Amino acid sequence: MVNRCKKCNVPLEGLGYKIIARPLFGVRPGKNKNVCNKCENKTRGKK
Ligand SMILES: [Zn+2]
Repeated sequence: MVNRCKKCNVPLEGLGYKIIARPLFGVRPGKNKNVCNKCENKTRGKK
């Protein structure tokens, strides 16, 4: 099963990641592999 961001459900590996998420949205896996870098930044911005 493909690892996906738990918040926005974007694929973090596999074809969906390589051909869609990374080139089109600039998404990469965050430090926490359960979420992408974008959601990780949002979470970090919250107080
Ligand atoms: Zn995300």
